[in-house]
Amino acid sequence: MSKKTYSIFGAGAAGLYTAWRLLDGKSKLAKNEKMLVKGDVLELYDWGKYDFSKKNPGTREPGARVCTWHYKDDKDNSYLELGGMRYLYWDGTPEGPGHRLVTKTIEELDLKKDSVPFNESADPLMSLRSKNMYISDINSNQPAPYFANNYAQDAPPDDGFTTIQSVAITQTSGPTTRREWCKFYEEGRINIDMPDSSVYQKGDLLKEIGYWNLGYDMLGQEGFGYLSDGNGYSSNVVNSNSAQSFNVNDEFLPGTEYKTLIKGYSSLFDSLFEEVEKLAKQKGITLNYYPNVRLRSIIHTKSGVNFTTATRKDPDALAERKKCDAAFLAMPRAAIDLVAQASRYSDDEGTDVLNHEKVQLYLESVLMEPSYKIGMFFDTPWWRTTEAGSPTYPAKLTSYFLTQEGIEKLKKEGFPSNYLKKIESAKNPAILVNSFNDKVSFITAVENAIEERLTFKQEKQISTVAELDTIGPSITDMPIRQVVYFGDNARDGKGKKVYGILASYDDILYATFWKALELGPDATREIPESRDVQPLEGPREATPVMVKMLRSQLASLHFGPQADYSYVPEPLETKYMDWSLPPFNAGYHAYKSHYNLGDVQRKIRKPSQLVPNTDSEIFIVGETYSNDQAWVEGAFCTAESVLNDFFGIEPIIDEKYYPFISPE
Ligand SMILES: Cc1cc2nc3c(=O)[nH]c(=O)nc-3n(C[C@H](O)[C@H](O)[C@H](O)COP(=O)(O)OP(=O)(O)OC[C@H]3O[C@@H](n4cnc5c(N)ncnc54)[C@H](O)[C@@H]3O)c2cc1C
Repeated sequence: MSKKTYSIFGAGAAGLYTAWRLLDGKSKLAKNEKMLVKGDVLELYDWGKYDFSKKNPGTREPGARVCTWHYKDDKDNSYLELGGMRYLYWDGTPEGPGHRLVTKTIEELDLKKDSVPFNESADPLMSLRSKNMYISDINSNQPAPYFANNYAQDAPPDDGFTTIQSVAITQTSGPTTRREWCKFYEEGRINIDMPDSSVYQKGDLLKEIGYWNLGYDMLGQEGFGYLSDGNGYSSNVVNSNSAQSFNVNDEFLPGTEYKTLIKGYSSLFDSLFEEVEKLAKQKGITLNYYPNVRLRSIIHTKSGVNFTTATRKDPDALAERKKCDAAFLAMPRAAIDLVAQASRYSDDEGTDVLNHEKVQLYLESVLMEPSYKIGMFFDTPWWRTTEAGSPTYPAKLTSYFLTQEGIEKLKKEGFPSNYLKKIESAKNPAILVNSFNDKVSFITAVENAIEERLTFKQEKQISTVAELDTIGPSITDMPIRQVVYFGDNARDGKGKKVYGILASYDDILYATFWKALELGPDATREIPESRDVQPLEGPREATPVMVKMLRSQLASLHFGPQADYSYVPEPLETKYMDWSLPPFNAGYHAYKSHYNLGDVQRKIRKPSQLVPNTDSEIFIVGETYSNDQAWVEGAFCTAESVLNDFFGIEPIIDEKYYPFISPE
């Protein structure tokens, strides 16, 4: 076979993973003409230019919708995550929960040593309707300020998720494995008798019901409002496909253990890029990396895939006409829409795969969920209790969380093995991978499990191993929505300490609140939003009005509703990422109701499967049409599935317990 060219458009999670696995993967067959071999060409295009290395510098840290931001842009300083920030750790067992491909990739790239816990507080601070409280305080004597059906305000807001899913799932019934969930997306129905007043009835298919519609029907306006305000994410309660939202919001998910990388989540993408460069060189495959170049249009022809490019400087004008043997569109829905628009009006010969009606139908199967993050650095961690003092409502950031790694550590330290066995098997409450608010409740649970008192030394040993500094979040209905506490995480530990928080993490409608503050009071907009590629340029400095607005809401959250903005000190630096801007136009995606989302996943990854009599080597990979939307895992899984099923590459891990996309 003559020399092949494979072109990847998008150097984010899906694009880099595709490049890596094309170079690193093993063939399932002895003879496989689809494999890249010596002399072949691998092209990697991106609209942006990420700072991968000294040799390949850029305007911001890599990872596309992942974007680590270091104070003063110095990698030795503390950092915040202004995009994706963590993954669900998988312990490697066949039934273990977690993000298997991200965990595996981190291992393969030898980054396991950099992987650190990134867990949530067991007792978050909330401020709803100007009432400040901790989740553990909510009960019938101190209800949240809502008038919900069935006194839902007497319990934590997330209990609303449990009430909604109770139409089909309970603690002891319903899907648990990934395969069972995929089946549920197709077949899940309301399986309880509903009151006559309910819009939805027993037997109704959940995939045909919008989650907001069902939530409203189940909880009423007040109850739904409480859930929507109090869970922190508007994207968790949009009118998405109910069957999928049940999984996304599943309250019975056991053993969730979040992790991140100590140098920031972007460091995963530095390493992937480096590995791609290394492997291409080793294998004699030419790697052509084109930053600041975008795919403009794409057409299938009998002799291959024809495409045109444009430059970042002049993103609409034709730069080059090119050809490849396989094209991977590793980009989100909005970016694909732009390519489809240009392809639609091109007069080039060939089949316009992206604009076939069925392909368009499936491309539109997802909702776009804009999101917004604003990071602030301070010279004190004023939000928590320290020797220097405490705000009125400090974030409770210390939890007790015992992991399997902790058990191993205790074993080595000579902690009694019969105690450890009982701790590992404890239920009601589970001790392993379960968060405890404070030391007393943790030690009580341990002593109940072992049916003995711990000695002073044992108590100290186990509580030191389990003590965890968490990230919060705090949650509010104010437009800051969620505050995530990173603190001082500088690597070298030298120099003056600088403490970071995500002062605001919000999505959907709340993003528009901050957008209008991107310009000061005397500024008129000069760049059309459709041309403002701020997320590609990198974190942008906040205006003084935005900073003052943030301080005012942070003061209400931590010092009480009437507190003046000046309670919160002047920050050292404040920057934002507006994920509602191009080329992303969404932080993440969710499936709409009235779609067979398994069929969407299977077909859209090779869209010509939807076009009669056409077999085109155009592929779509990425988070958007995945089984794990809003996660890097989804980007990796779609890419893995394409490479396994259309390029004959052996799966990176056993797919038996973990189908990468919804199976047939
Ligand atoms: C605020 C926020 C919080 C998140 N939290 C988490 C989290 O904690 N954990 C987690 O795992 N995930 C999280 N996510 C989601 C995660 O970041 C994404 O799912 C993942 O990064 C998507 O990867 P992707 O490769 O599919 O797409 P993208 O990251 O969007 O990459 C697409 C790439 O394509 C490029 N591109 C676009 N158009 C073109 C074109 N025409 N030609 C060439 N290149 C083009 C873009 O410049 C970009 O580099 C979060 C996302 C956001 C925004």
